[in-house]
Amino acid sequence: MARIFCVANQKGGVGKTTTAVNLAAGLAKLGQRVLLVDLDPQGNATMGAGINKAELDGSIYEVLVGLATVSACRKLSETGRFDVLPANRELAGAEVELVELDNREKRLKTALAEVDAEYDFMLIDCPPALSMLTLNGLCAAHGVIIPMQCEYYALEGLSDLVNTIKKVHAKLNPDLRIIGLLRVMFDPRMTLSQQVSAQLEQHFGDKVFKTIIPRNVRLAEAPSYGMPGVSFDPSSKGAQAYVAFGAEMVERIRSW
Ligand code: ATP
Ligand code: MG
Repeated sequence: MARIFCVANQKGGVGKTTTAVNLAAGLAKLGQRVLLVDLDPQGNATMGAGINKAELDGSIYEVLVGLATVSACRKLSETGRFDVLPANRELAGAEVELVELDNREKRLKTALAEVDAEYDFMLIDCPPALSMLTLNGLCAAHGVIIPMQCEYYALEGLSDLVNTIKKVHAKLNPDLRIIGLLRVMFDPRMTLSQQVSAQLEQHFGDKVFKTIIPRNVRLAEAPSYGMPGVSFDPSSKGAQAYVAFGAEMVERIRSW
């Protein structure tokens, strides 16, 4: 059975896609079978995995509205060695169309069940909103990974996300839990980063992942080559951190 995780945070630009793509590549490097699900109409995870979002035969949009299956739409990321259920702008339309459909919050969950036996992990890259799309992600998942920058405003908005997760847990998906907060784009030279990081550990204890992802320019450069940072420059600090994070995730689910 695949373990399914959402990478979510309704704040924009906090490192969700970078985390989803590089965790997928990190896990693949550790021999895990991974499906990366792009649930964002921006299609950044799709492009970052080296798949051209402008030339898709089928995408997650068709899957959600019931026009195609996951197995018909998925593609192999040759640069990351994992499969991708790709997305592009068409997905923005699903937001409205889903409202009219049966079982609207659970359409992704139902669709992913088809390929469940083929993967060890499925990672869902959520858009920066607590929308119907994100709700579909949360209903499909066993857990949520929340990437956070260690800055003054990081905690603002976290309570909205935590409350949404609690509601989904209570009403729609009893399996759902917060797996952990991941500190990303970390700059150890900044006192504020250190302080916020310590605060996170104090408040959230072992819900904070041990691995810290540093700010690293190679991770930011990689998407323009259609490659996960983990494959683009494996010896970079950022790539190594994401492989270590992959190992931490494998370790965590072993104790489930
Ligand atoms: P959105 O909310 O728009 O989906 P996001 O949360 O998915 O954004 P990313 O796209 O992953 O965020 O990252 C935002 C920007 O920060 C990107 O330009 C990315 O390359 C850069 N970035 C992410 N993580 C790092 C890092 N560890 N070091 C340096 N740059 C990073
Ligand atoms: Mg993103």
